[in-house]
Amino acid sequence: MSRLEEQLIEKLAEIEHNQWVEWSKDIASKEKLSTDRLARWKTFWIPYSQLSEKVKEQDRIWARKSLASLSDHAVFYQFSPRWCEEHDVWDCGVCFADQG
Ligand SMILES: [Zn+2]
Repeated sequence: MSRLEEQLIEKLAEIEHNQWVEWSKDIASKEKLSTDRLARWKTFWIPYSQLSEKVKEQDRIWARKSLASLSDHAVFYQFSPRWCEEHDVWDCGVCFADQG
């Protein structure tokens, strides 16, 4: 998997997590959940970056499905940014400035 794909999966997984947090908070505000379930949910009401790798992996399952769908429709491959190892950025304005 390319570095771009890895980064996209992390971004999509973060969105997936945020979507779940909004959904679960909405459910929790409207329905009577068991104490155990609510306590478990609350442990996941934190930013994606703070989740354990095991929990992040659950979000990545959906992120990979999203990316596969985008790839199927060729949207993903219209973008081809270059990674600058020296400055740790995409499409580095310093190193790639003369290369169009
Ligand atoms: Zn650079």
